[in-house]
Amino acid sequence: MAKINDNFLKLPGSYLFANIAHKVTTYKEEHPDAKVIKLGIGDVTQPLPQASIEAMHGAIEDLATKERFHGYGPEQGYKFLQDTIIKNDYNPLGIDLDSTEVFVNDGAKSDTGNIGDILAVDNKVGVTDPIYPVYIDSNVMGGRSGDLQKNGMWSNIVYTPCSADNHFIPQLPKEKVDIMYLCYPNNPTGTTLTKAQLKTWVDWALANDVLIMFDSAYEAYITEKDVPHSIYEIEGAKKCAIEFRSFSKTAGFTGVRCGYTVVPKELMATAANGEKVALNGIWNRRQCTKFNGASYITQRGAEATYSEAGKKQVRKTIDFYMGNAKIMKQELEAVGLTTFGGVNAPYVWVKTPRGMTSWEFFDEMLHQANVVGTPGAGFGPSGEGYYRLSAFGERENCLEAMERIKNWLKK
Ligand SMILES: *Cc1c(COP(=O)(O)O)cnc(C)c1O
Repeated sequence: MAKINDNFLKLPGSYLFANIAHKVTTYKEEHPDAKVIKLGIGDVTQPLPQASIEAMHGAIEDLATKERFHGYGPEQGYKFLQDTIIKNDYNPLGIDLDSTEVFVNDGAKSDTGNIGDILAVDNKVGVTDPIYPVYIDSNVMGGRSGDLQKNGMWSNIVYTPCSADNHFIPQLPKEKVDIMYLCYPNNPTGTTLTKAQLKTWVDWALANDVLIMFDSAYEAYITEKDVPHSIYEIEGAKKCAIEFRSFSKTAGFTGVRCGYTVVPKELMATAANGEKVALNGIWNRRQCTKFNGASYITQRGAEATYSEAGKKQVRKTIDFYMGNAKIMKQELEAVGLTTFGGVNAPYVWVKTPRGMTSWEFFDEMLHQANVVGTPGAGFGPSGEGYYRLSAFGERENCLEAMERIKNWLKK
C-alpha cells in the first residue's frame, strides 16, 4: 500500500472558519429572525475593475481567432505582464528588475506554500505571531515544523510575538533562523513596519544568512508615506528576500486568480555540499515542471489593472474599503474599544475588552450584536485577546454593524 506523507497527519483540522460557521448556523437556527452581518472573511465584495473586464473579453476574442489564439503560455508568465508589473509596481520605487525575476502565478497563496519545494527540510523557520496560516501549515506539510505543543506552537518553529505590548513590532529572533516569513501590511493585525523597522530585518537577514519570505499582498492599501510597498526598497534586500504579491486584494482577483513572485537573480542559498546556488534558477525549474502558467485571459485582465482607467478603478475600490475601515475604527474607538490596523490595511484588529478571550468576545458579539468577525486566537497564540474585523463588506452592512456594536457596548 502507498505510504502517506505523515506530516499531513500532524495538522489539526482547520477549525477556525468551520467553528465560526458552526456557531453562526446554530445561532441562526435558534434565532431565525436575526440578520447576522459577517465582517469576518478576508474576501473582497466589489466587482472587478471595468478595464479588466474589457481586457478579458478582448482576450477571449483573441482566443476565438486562429491568428491570435494562445495555447500554453510561458510558465513564468507572459512578458507583457511581467514588464507591466516591473514598470508600474517597481520602477516608480526606484527598483529595477529583469522580467526573468518576476514569476506570474495563480495567486500568492500557491507560491507562499509552494516555495518550500525548493528548500531543504532541515531549515529552521521563523514567523511573526499571529500570522496568515499558510506559512506555518505549508511548513508542517514540508516536515519543518516539529510537533504541535499544548501552547498551540510547533516545537521547531520560531515565533516572534506581535501585540500591543510591543506595538506590533516583532523583535528579531534570538535563536538561529534560516527562513523568516514577514507579511506587511499584516494580515490579520492590519499593522505595518516603517522603512527603518524593515531595514532592521533586512540587515539582520544579510548578517545571519536568513532568507526572508516577504508577503506584500496588501501593499496597495498603504496610505502612510513611511511604509515600504516592497522589501526591495531596502538596500540589500535582493540578496536576502523573495517577495509575494497578488491581484486578489488589489484588484478583486480572489476568484479570477493571479499574483506573482519575485525571485531576484542575486538571491542565493546553500547546497548540501556548501556550494552557493541561485534560487531564481531552481524556482524556475520547479515552476516549469509543476506549473503551466496563469491563463492568457487572466493575465490580460491583470495587465489592464495598470492601464490609466484600470488604475483609477482599482484606487476607487480600495478607497471604498478603506472608507469602511475608517468608519469601523472611529465607531469602535468611540465606544471605548482599542483598535489597531485599519490605516494601511483593510483589517481592524480590536483588543477584546474586560480581559475577554477572542472566542468569548466572538460569542458575545454574535449574540448581542449579531455581528461576526474572526477571533484573533485563530491566527496564532499571540492573537489571543484580539478580534479581526474585515473592511471588505458593503457600506450599509458596515454602518449597521457599528450601530449594533455601539448599542450593545453602551448597555
Ligand atoms: C489574501 C492573501 C493573499 C493572497 O492570496 P491569493 O492566493 O493571491 O488570493 C496572500 N497573503 C495574505 C497574507 C493574504 O491575506
